Amino acid sequence: MNIEQILRNPHLLYTKSHDNKAIFDYFVAKIKRHVERDEELLANSTAILQSIFKIQVDYTKVFELFSVQKYYSAWCLLERIEIAIKGVLWHYNFIEDEYYVLFIKEYVKKLQGLYPYKVFGSSEYIKKETRCSICDSIITLRNRCPHKKGELYMGEMCTYIITKSEMIGMSIVDEPFNKYSVMGVTKDEDDPYKYQNIDFLLSVIDHPFNQWNTESYKIFEPHSKFSVPRNEPCPCGSKLKYKKCCLPKPGVEMDHTQFIMKQPTMKTRGMKPTKVQKVTN
Ligand SMILES: [Zn+2]
Ligand SMILES: [Zn+2]
Repeated sequence: MNIEQILRNPHLLYTKSHDNKAIFDYFVAKIKRHVERDEELLANSTAILQSIFKIQVDYTKVFELFSVQKYYSAWCLLERIEIAIKGVLWHYNFIEDEYYVLFIKEYVKKLQGLYPYKVFGSSEYIKKETRCSICDSIITLRNRCPHKKGELYMGEMCTYIITKSEMIGMSIVDEPFNKYSVMGVTKDEDDPYKYQNIDFLLSVIDHPFNQWNTESYKIFEPHSKFSVPRNEPCPCGSKLKYKKCCLPKPGVEMDHTQFIMKQPTMKTRGMKPTKVQKVTN
């Protein structure tokens, strides 16, 4: 199996189906072999390659979730990818980005920006007990085990696990520590949001490794498009009355997203090369 070749061509994960399980098994067996021979450096570098492969597979999975309208699950997966990339970058300095880790890091952020979520719930916890994932000893400020958080030991990353905690409250924040908690959504089935930006993206890209950008700005939509009474909430979503918000303006102020493709894709061939289309929220 040529792992190097696979890691350097992640778009094939989407267009050609690899036997992902066989590749994961290969990594597990290789790490085990190095551990048995007490080759810690080799075990650790294999573990990093395994994480990179998992990041590529998960990034591809995000688009599969989009295509079956599981946007919230995709959101949760994007956050897990973000965390995994942080772990990999801790150990590996990419110059050429030969495994697309920096690419995925950039596009995870872009995809998160296409979501309509603005308010998150954030739980506040008091940590009561933290343990090391390698040796299981209790970590306190004064008492630390020899392992360093984020470091690899025989192919296994040291993390601190909160084993006892107490929730002290919920607060609403813009940039939550934990992005899983989107207000009003806990699973795909009861999702009240609309995802026009993501649907539009899917209609113009061929695979997850196409390059794209967005530009956002405000536009005025003609009043005639909306049949909203003067005293009702403004269609722009400001929560003000229509007459006190956009009615006196040249039109209803709406967010507009323009997608710009770096290269034409199969789906955009025939359309104007750079300007693809706009999506209004
Ligand atoms: Zn430890
Ligand atoms: Zn308005």
